[in-house]
Amino acid sequence: MARKKFIAGNWKMNTTIDEAVALAKAVVEKAGQVADVDVAICPPFISLKAVSDVVKGSNVKLGAQDVHWEAKGAFTGKISCAMLKSVGVQYVIIGHSEQRTYFHETNETVNKKVKAVLAAGLLPIICVGETLDERKTGKLFSVVEGQTKGAFAGISKADALTCTVAYEPVWAIGTGEVATPDQANEMHIFIRKQISSLYDTDTAGAVRIQYGGSMKPDNAKALLALSDVDGGLIGGAALKADDFFGIVKPK
Ligand code: PEP
Repeated sequence: MARKKFIAGNWKMNTTIDEAVALAKAVVEKAGQVADVDVAICPPFISLKAVSDVVKGSNVKLGAQDVHWEAKGAFTGKISCAMLKSVGVQYVIIGHSEQRTYFHETNETVNKKVKAVLAAGLLPIICVGETLDERKTGKLFSVVEGQTKGAFAGISKADALTCTVAYEPVWAIGTGEVATPDQANEMHIFIRKQISSLYDTDTAGAVRIQYGGSMKPDNAKALLALSDVDGGLIGGAALKADDFFGIVKPK
């Protein structure tokens, strides 16, 4: 099945509102009319509204970097799905390794967030990936299997079809050390098998799996050409419009 490529920029804790607006404008200028690749940018929460106004009317979609699963209430510092929707967010990154490492994200909280996001009609980008230690000790497949199955637990097939998975080997994030094409495709095929075992081959064949981890304009073409790599979740290179566009349309 042909899957449309999907490139999303995760700006992490970078950019003030003014900087975010400037970067969003530059991304829209370059990628705003791209129709054969889905493109999204995920600025920090405080810039979502301003960036939403910039991307309006273009093909660049808006994403958030996290969400809380509860609808409202005494959850100081948290942001709900309804709040994200109110500013035009469509995609939500869930389970990024930095959330897992620094902020106690678990497979269970990932699942709660996926359920809340789907119930709100938003589109999850579910991050999975092993640490270097887990790869070295041969636990990479069991870890990613647990993360994938944990995220999709209790999710209907119709909802699963709206999810994107991002395979982000932790050792490749922000390190400049990119997974080899063989390492990336092997894991993408493995993740697709897990989705197939939960649903069926058609569903597994339709869900997009992005690669994330030091993807840059000079390595994007080879990674995006792989049979099971359907796009990228981009950190560092998403902070420069030229570099980001060089991944959206690699030469
Ligand atoms: C990320 O944080 O999702 C990521 C892939 O970062 P980088 O591209 O900087 O490795």
